[in-house]
Amino acid sequence: MPSDCLFCKIVNREIPTEFLYEDDDFVVFRDINPAAPVHVLLVPKKHIRSINDLQKEEGPIVSGLFMLAKDMAKEQGVNTSGYKLLFNVEKGGGQVIFHLHLHLIGGWKR
Ligand code: 5GP
Ligand code: ZN
Repeated sequence: MPSDCLFCKIVNREIPTEFLYEDDDFVVFRDINPAAPVHVLLVPKKHIRSINDLQKEEGPIVSGLFMLAKDMAKEQGVNTSGYKLLFNVEKGGGQVIFHLHLHLIGGWKR
């Protein structure tokens, strides 16, 4: 783990953050600067820089993220109203934290 990775520090509880969910492989917490009423980050505990760095054997992490997104959308009450799932990839794609994470964004009144 890079010692300067913010999300590794959150995963390792070096930076106190309320987890909405945690298991052996993932944590979920609210985005500090929400873009919508519901904006949570689904984060693998394993440090992977971005989608570009995924290895074939890490496929279960990717599928696990999507299954978790489905469950968290329900838990956050946006599964039927709808939501967006977003990976920002590298600087040009808007990534600012270089530890793989999936944004779950929703809860707009439409
Ligand atoms: P990225 O642009 O890298 O895909 O998204 C990183 C997200 O992490 C941003 O939406 C940002 O608001 C969020 N973020 C940055 N620092 C912190 C933090 O210390 N705590 C939490 N909960 N979210 C953070
Ligand atoms: Zn990390």
